Amino acid sequence: MQKHTDFTPFTEITPSAQVDAARHGWRAKCLQRLIRLDLPVPKSVALPCDTVRAIAAGQMPDTRRIVASFDAGALISIRPSPADPDWGGPGTVLNVGMNAERHDAIREKHGQALADALYLGFVQSYAIHVARLDPDMFTAEPSESALAAALAAYDAEMEEEFPQDTARQLAEVLRSMARAWEGTTARLLREAKGAPPEAALGLVVQEMVQCLGPGLSGQGTIQLIEGVTGAPQVTGRFRGLNPANRKAEETFYLVKDKRGNSLEEAAPEVFATLQDHCRRCRVKLREEMQIEFALENGALRVIDAIRVPCSSRAAVRTAVTLAQEDIISRDEAILRVEPRALSELLHYQVDPRGTRDCIARGINASPGAASGRIVLSAADAQASASRGEACILVRRETVPEDIRGMHAAVAVLTERGGITSHAAVIARGLGLPCIVGASDLGLDTRDRRITTKDGRVFGEGDMITIDGTNGEVLAGTTEMLEPALDEWFRTLLHWADNVRDIGVRANADTPDEARTARMFEAEGIGLCRTEHMFFDEDRLTVMREMIFANSAKDRKVALDRLLPMQRADFITLFDIMAGLPVCIRLFDPPLHEFLPQDREGMRELAEALDRPLSEVTRRVEALSEFNPMLGLRGVRIGVTVPEIYEMQARAIFEATVEASRRGAAVVPEVMIPLVSAKREVEIVKTQFDAVAAAVRVATGVDFDYRLGVMVETPRAALRAGEIAHHVSFLSFGTNDLTQMTYGLSRDDAGRFMGDYVKQQVYPEDPFHVLDIDGVGELLLIGCARGRKIQPDVTLSVCGEHGGNPPSIAFCRRSGFDYVSCSPFRVPVARLAAAQFAL
Ligand code: PEP
Ligand code: MG
Repeated sequence: MQKHTDFTPFTEITPSAQVDAARHGWRAKCLQRLIRLDLPVPKSVALPCDTVRAIAAGQMPDTRRIVASFDAGALISIRPSPADPDWGGPGTVLNVGMNAERHDAIREKHGQALADALYLGFVQSYAIHVARLDPDMFTAEPSESALAAALAAYDAEMEEEFPQDTARQLAEVLRSMARAWEGTTARLLREAKGAPPEAALGLVVQEMVQCLGPGLSGQGTIQLIEGVTGAPQVTGRFRGLNPANRKAEETFYLVKDKRGNSLEEAAPEVFATLQDHCRRCRVKLREEMQIEFALENGALRVIDAIRVPCSSRAAVRTAVTLAQEDIISRDEAILRVEPRALSELLHYQVDPRGTRDCIARGINASPGAASGRIVLSAADAQASASRGEACILVRRETVPEDIRGMHAAVAVLTERGGITSHAAVIARGLGLPCIVGASDLGLDTRDRRITTKDGRVFGEGDMITIDGTNGEVLAGTTEMLEPALDEWFRTLLHWADNVRDIGVRANADTPDEARTARMFEAEGIGLCRTEHMFFDEDRLTVMREMIFANSAKDRKVALDRLLPMQRADFITLFDIMAGLPVCIRLFDPPLHEFLPQDREGMRELAEALDRPLSEVTRRVEALSEFNPMLGLRGVRIGVTVPEIYEMQARAIFEATVEASRRGAAVVPEVMIPLVSAKREVEIVKTQFDAVAAAVRVATGVDFDYRLGVMVETPRAALRAGEIAHHVSFLSFGTNDLTQMTYGLSRDDAGRFMGDYVKQQVYPEDPFHVLDIDGVGELLLIGCARGRKIQPDVTLSVCGEHGGNPPSIAFCRRSGFDYVSCSPFRVPVARLAAAQFAL
């Protein structure tokens, strides 16, 4: 016996009914709005979330009462209505109420074929989705015998006749949809789209429009914008029976088209009315809506409407246009665009309308897409670029020496590494699409080829596409969408700038990156990693001479050759940034990174330096460390080999004088990396003050500079008070700080991070999203202790987290002055920061 409930189990959707999105779901609410706009919506009934929850728990409302709300003999549909359309839900079930009696009636009126198709369609969908029978038994094309076979198969499997009672059919459909929502897969899918664990489902039961009859009949969708670009353009489709030729269903263009029939020509009044409905929805519902409609013998009915499914660029254009037309406010436009989606606009993207042949997956380390031929070494990448051929650099992992190859490539793919690995950081800086940690790549460096999981082999010179936005490696080339730094994008970001209350700078090492930073309207450079300036061919050799020097005097000779090059670097950067702040991080990496790794390289170096190979090998060995990231690097080099920082100080200050003579006054910011003790800061400060004084005397030009410390070790955060005493700013290098707080190598963590996140050991990759509980606490301690001693000390974050929206929210709440991130993430940070301020 069916157990019935005594709560209000359903509500007919009328203009005055109590329907709200939280109780009945977005679809029910949206239908009520359409009804209030006087759109011709068929009779609809909303089942609130409470009812659906009770159904899933075994309490069924009296479905006879629901059926009685509709005209006798009407067929009905059941559609999901969660609170947010993005959360999906079980598939719609159509034509509930179809049975032998209605089959006969339809056959009488409209012929056997239509009646069979309708009944078979319902039996198939009921058997597969409601009774959960094997789909293989129910996939035949419509015919009288197929219908008989499907009914017989149902009978045999279920040991009962196909249900004929509409109320019984409805009860089974409701039960199956309510339970599907509770399933684990469905829950995980919607949670991935942001649904809370307690998200509930409402359902809408609606009278079906019978698309039968002698006049134009069928179903379609219409919207006023094109979904990829957002440009105004009537878009959609209509499938129906043409009265002029009633043989089979055909697809109509909406707008008049030389290639075939169009709704505009077949039913001009309907076409005009539909556009009018879309325009009214746009103004009253304050969204571009896609209307789903049906024509019943020429009469128009509106079945449903959803927000136009659109790409990021279309979403930006729509939000800005609606605000410009005063349909929504500017603040609302800012809030409507997902910041992460902006980075899609800054790069080429794989056209979602094309086909994809995915051959491997990895971590989507830098967004955008590019196609090119596979090269397996930096040298080959350079050779390929010099021939004008686009190439993709594929490596097990990249090392600093690969940087020239990365510059030459259109995209980078590595088998190992995580989100802050060398390849990932450099690619984001260069704006190159990049996938790292593609562990199923099957890279064989000896045979110089890739073997994919399904056994396909790709060698050097083969064409592949990197989709760095979603981490997929595709075979061959694909259709691409162009970047869209269009007027809508710029307008939205200017509105965001007026609202946000935390600064956004860019991490930029090269003139190109600095120009990109300006193009994206960063408020300065928050981190210029100077070591990247020493990897150019001509400098690398001098750098190596410096490392191999036997005495301070010899070292100085090499450094004197590097000085003019560094000075020129800084002049260029200051010129490009035109008075905006530029924060220069002093030399940071372990020296061995500049030395060759293999015997061949060492032999070449011995030749270049005119030294015996054995001496080169010995020196390389002597410089190697067990834990290079915790060894002689950063300020530790500054203290023990002071000539390097001395050269950098001179280059920075001489460039300051030169650039200030030519343009806006420059106040350089100098940042000391990897500090762990205040004495390190005192030593460097004394040295820099002395060099500044000497440059002032030598040039006769006065200038200021700001000294700061990069807080990258837990100890620097804990001792921030005594450190802040000596400096004007503290910039938290959250990459190293995360590495050292967790004791987790940023270069190796990628290998197991996926497992760790999957098993919920960490909620997310902490190199990607700031760990607020642990690393965040060190930031708060550092801020509080620094500010206590130096209330006006400038506080910032310059690790990769600076471009991550949740991390930006934390920095803003904690009173940071600015975040600094890769240039291509600057727009994302500008928009996210504005959203947090609203
Ligand atoms: C950091 O450690 O957070 C940082 C920005 O420096 P790098 O990534 O160069 O170590
Ligand atoms: Mg660092």
